[in-house]
Amino acid sequence: MLRSSSRLSNVDYALRGKLLLQAESLKKKNVPIVSLNIGNTEPFGLPIPSQLQEEMIQYFRQGKGHGYAPSRGIPQAIAAVQEKYKKIDVSVQTEHVFFGAGVSELARIAMDALLEKDDEVLLPAPCYPVWGAAVALAGGKPVYYLCDEHAGWHPDIHDIGRKISAKSRAILVINPNNPTGAVYEKVLLEQLANIAARHQLVILSDEIYEGVTYDDVESVPMSMLVKDTLCISFSGLSKIYRAPGLRTAWMTLSGKTKEIQSFVDGLYLLCSLRLSAPALPQYVVPSALSTDHGLKSLLQSGGRLWEQREILMKKLDMIEGLSYVKPKGAFYVFPKLSVNTFNLKDDEQFCTDFLLKKHVLLIHGKGFAWMHPDHFRIVFLADRITLGKAMDHLTDFLKEYRQE
Ligand code: PLP
Repeated sequence: MLRSSSRLSNVDYALRGKLLLQAESLKKKNVPIVSLNIGNTEPFGLPIPSQLQEEMIQYFRQGKGHGYAPSRGIPQAIAAVQEKYKKIDVSVQTEHVFFGAGVSELARIAMDALLEKDDEVLLPAPCYPVWGAAVALAGGKPVYYLCDEHAGWHPDIHDIGRKISAKSRAILVINPNNPTGAVYEKVLLEQLANIAARHQLVILSDEIYEGVTYDDVESVPMSMLVKDTLCISFSGLSKIYRAPGLRTAWMTLSGKTKEIQSFVDGLYLLCSLRLSAPALPQYVVPSALSTDHGLKSLLQSGGRLWEQREILMKKLDMIEGLSYVKPKGAFYVFPKLSVNTFNLKDDEQFCTDFLLKKHVLLIHGKGFAWMHPDHFRIVFLADRITLGKAMDHLTDFLKEYRQE
């Protein structure tokens, strides 16, 4: 028997886990499945902006991006990222920008470079699961702090205070948030910056949904507020530019960058060990960062994502025993089911039962490190009609549903 390493025993990625396998086996039997499990833009008819497509083809034909890139990234892409930060008055040194195959890869690199065995990293609950995995695989310990549903899913500063220990090394902020769709206000981000500085924790700021906000809500980059401790910001092409298949993201170091050379050398070493991030897409980063490539029109009133959020909320409002916090950003909602009404004991079972009965794939809250069996996540990237029908199925299903 060949067993996988015991290091994987605390690692999970429910978004592509058991539920997806079940959905795939139904598809093989020709059952059509509506997959609302993952924030992947292409299957929902949201392509990479055409200008970026054209430029990439041209660069490729010019012979660019055929080889490995420099380990940290190509100079033009690094300069474009520095320029983006300069516009918000944040100075980032050239040696402090690192490109990776998605934030997913950079999260692993950052945690591998930072953590000693059993070091603790404060992660939000609920949390995008790549982070818990990155911490665990680096030998660290994820310690979850509460995001409070009654406070618009904002992080609970007191809970964070209680959970900081001598072993704490870093705190993760995901803003705008997956899975809750929350967007944090500046005052709250300042409080997070202060508490991190007080305890000399590194701030990890996952801003992959930066600017993906509705109703003129602003997402404030953490790097603007962090001065007295190290801030590592993560962003990329996956969501803002609808280009997750390009696997292109960057991480930048800002704030207190004195005495971090050994850590920077560690990041460089890990980046060189994987040779480089995908080379070709890096050539379009300057162009990507020069405009929003149609993002605003998708998000504003009447835009496609805005409309999809509207229909979703309209349908959810009519379901008894279900409540939710209106998402202000990203493309997710994390509804709550009444434990009493549905006699809930197991959220994965709920998603499995719904998949088998109505052929709609959702992900249970535990997949996002949510400890109670009462939440699940809906991705609202599908068009209005598909989404509306999927929500009608949910309404119908919940009328009868009670767990044994
Ligand atoms: N961070 C968050 C909060 C996400 O939701 C996702 C993907 O859904 C990622 C990171 C992964 O991003 P990437 O495609 O750059 O690996």
